[in-house]
Amino acid sequence: MPIALSGIAVSKGIAIGKARVSQHGQLDIVEYVLPSEYIEDEVARFKHAIETACGQLRIIRQQVPEHAPAEVVSFIDTHLLMLQDEALSSAPAELIRQRRCNAEWALKLQQDALVQVFDAMEDPYLRTRRDDVEHVVRRVQQVLLREETQGILHESERDEQRIILAVDLAPSDMVQLNHRNVAAIITERGGPLSHTAILARSLGIPALVGVPNVHQYVAEDETIILDANNGALLLSPDEATLKHYRARQRAATVARRELFKLKDKGAKTLDGTRVSLHANIELSDDITATKRVGATGVGLYRTEFLFMNRESPPDEQEQYQTYLNAIKRLKGLPLTIRTLDLGADKEIVPGATACTNPALGLRAIRLCLKEPQLFLTQLRAILRASSKGKVRLLIPMLTSVQELTQALALLNQARGELRREKKSFDPKMAVGAMIEVPAAAICADLFAERLDFLSIGTNDLMQYTLATDRLDESVNHLFDPLNPGVLRLIHGIIKAGHKAKIPVSMCGEMAGDSRYTRLLLAMGLREFSMPPSSILEVKQALLGTDISKLQRKLPKLMASATPSTTAIELGLISLQ
Ligand code: PEP
Ligand code: MG
Repeated sequence: MPIALSGIAVSKGIAIGKARVSQHGQLDIVEYVLPSEYIEDEVARFKHAIETACGQLRIIRQQVPEHAPAEVVSFIDTHLLMLQDEALSSAPAELIRQRRCNAEWALKLQQDALVQVFDAMEDPYLRTRRDDVEHVVRRVQQVLLREETQGILHESERDEQRIILAVDLAPSDMVQLNHRNVAAIITERGGPLSHTAILARSLGIPALVGVPNVHQYVAEDETIILDANNGALLLSPDEATLKHYRARQRAATVARRELFKLKDKGAKTLDGTRVSLHANIELSDDITATKRVGATGVGLYRTEFLFMNRESPPDEQEQYQTYLNAIKRLKGLPLTIRTLDLGADKEIVPGATACTNPALGLRAIRLCLKEPQLFLTQLRAILRASSKGKVRLLIPMLTSVQELTQALALLNQARGELRREKKSFDPKMAVGAMIEVPAAAICADLFAERLDFLSIGTNDLMQYTLATDRLDESVNHLFDPLNPGVLRLIHGIIKAGHKAKIPVSMCGEMAGDSRYTRLLLAMGLREFSMPPSSILEVKQALLGTDISKLQRKLPKLMASATPSTTAIELGLISLQ
C-alpha cells in the first residue's frame, strides 16, 4: 500500500521516477565571537566570499541554455544585483566589526533582518522575493563553509529521469539541472508564487511545494510518483499503482497534444459568442509564452516587476522603452498596462514606513496618489507608448470614486504636459479600473459610468470579501470563489459594466480556472485574462458551452445559500 504525502501543486502533471534527495538548503551555521585582532581578516574573508559567489553566478549565467525561459536569466541577474547591493555586500561587514561575530553569523543576522522587511510587504510578489534573499545568502554561506556547489544531478545520473527533492531550489540550481532528465520537483518550502513554482510552470515540469520534512520520508533512488494534479506524492508504490499512473501519464500526453491543436481555433462558444482569452504577464519576455498558446492579447501587465530589486524606480524613458518592446512583440494585439501595484517599499518611496496590515495599507493607487511624481512618470510613459499600439491603462485597488477622480486628473495633467512638449499619444487610450475592493464592487456602476472598461481582480476581491489573507497558507481553504457573497459581487460588477455598455474583464486566478468557465460565461463575462498556461484549457471549456442554456439556470444559483453544490447540480461548474 503506497504512502501519500500532500503539498501544494504549483505545476500540474504526473511524474514517475527515482528520487534524488538533494541536501541543498541545509547548512550548519556555527556562531562565535572573534578576538578583536581577527576582525579585519574576517571582513576580508566575507568580502572574498561575496566575490566568489558573484563569480559563480556569472558562470552559471553563461551556462543558461538558449531554450531556457527568459525568467531564468532575469532571476540570476536579480541575484547578482542583490549580492552587489550594500544590504548584502557591506552591511554584514559592519556587523562583523560592531558585534565581533563571525562572517556566517553576520550574514545570518542580516538575512533575518531583510526577510522581516520582505515579510512585511503587502504585494504578494514582493513578499515571495524573500526567497531571493535566502537563495543568495545560502550561496555565500556555502562559499564561507567551503561547501561543494556542484549541480544537483551527478554526471552518472544524467541519462535517467529523476524526481528532485530539496528543501528549496534557487533559480541557479534550476539552471544546473538538466531539464530533460528532471521528471518533477518537490520542495519543502515555497508557495504558488515562489521562483521554483514560476520556473517549473514555464518549463512544464510537474512540481509540488510545501511538503514539510519530505527528505526524511524518501530514500535516495527509491521509485516515487508525483501526482501534481492532485497535490500528492506517493511513496513505495506497488505494481498496480505504478501501472495505473503510467496509464494516466500516457493519457495526459495525448490530452496535452489535443489541447495544443486548439491554439489557432477561434474562441467561440457553441452559440457563436466570441470570447477574448487574454494573458497575464509580469515581464515583456512573457509574451513569447502568450503567443505559444494563441492568446488574444494581454489583459494584465503587472508593471511592478519593473520597479523591483533596484535602488531607484525606472525613469520615463526606460519605462517607455519597456512598454514599447511589449507592444512590438504583441504585433497589433492589445496590451493592458496596469499602473504600479506596489506596497510600502522604502527603496522606492523614501520615508514610507512599514505598516501593521500591509494588505490594507498604502498600496497600488493609494501609493501612487501619495507619490504623484512616481505616478505621473508612469502615466507619461504609458501614454507615449499608446501612440505606438493598442494600449489600455488599468488602475488597481480603487476604493472610492474620489480616488478615481484624482487619478484621472493626474492622467489629464500628463496628457497636457505631453501636448505642450509635442510628444504624441493616443487621446482615446482606453482607461479602466481593477474592481478588487468590495466597496468598489458594490458601487461598480459609479466606476463604470466614468471609465472605458472594468477588470475584476478576484484574488484581492476574495481576500477582502472573505477576510482571508491570500498569502496565509493556514486559511487558504477559506478562499472560495463560490461563496455567495463573492458570486453576487462578481455578478454585480459584470451587470454594471453591461448597463454602462463597457467591457468587463476578469484577470484574477478564477478566470484561468476552467472549472468556472461555464459559470462566468453564464454571468455574462466575455473577456478572460489568465496565466498563459491556462488559456488552452479555458478555451476547451468554452468551445463546448452553450451560453443561452446556462443563463436560464443562473437565477437559481444566485439565490442558493450553498452555491458550490447547486452549481454542480445545475452543470454550471465542472468538477475538474
Ligand atoms: C487580483 O487581485 O485578482 C489581481 C489580478 O491582481 P494581483 O494578483 O496582482 O493583486
Ligand atoms: Mg490585485
